[in-house]
Amino acid sequence: MTCLECKKNLTYVDHKNAMDTLGVELCARHKTLIDKLIRKYGTPIQAIQLYYGLKKAGANPTLEWWDGKKSVDIAISRVKLNIEIDTEYQMITHNRAITHLEETMHSFKNGFTTIRIPHDLVTHYLNETVTNIIGITEGLKANIRVI
Ligand SMILES: [Zn+2]
Repeated sequence: MTCLECKKNLTYVDHKNAMDTLGVELCARHKTLIDKLIRKYGTPIQAIQLYYGLKKAGANPTLEWWDGKKSVDIAISRVKLNIEIDTEYQMITHNRAITHLEETMHSFKNGFTTIRIPHDLVTHYLNETVTNIIGITEGLKANIRVI
């Protein structure tokens, strides 16, 4: 058991604390940093889990990336991909839906692709979600090269 950020060996207590609250292996110091991020931006814990999943798969993700207007849950800036975790999709209102569509439109105009991932997908299908996002980044990379 080592910290996903610094590879430090984890004590039983550190491991349990991080797994119980975030579901990822982090040392006390890095857990504190992530906790701060969550408090500041309201980051869903599924975003944290997906972030580390993508990192492990070799992507270069950024948590809470500022796009100039708002903070994006996860961005893979090399291929201009924004990933938002949906925590409210079961009760989404028309207003929220049109706001999402407008945000997607604005980021497209800036050359960014936005995908929205239901939080349950991360909880139940993390590996498949990561695999598909990696596929999307490869597709985007190929398109960037063509342009
Ligand atoms: Zn650490």
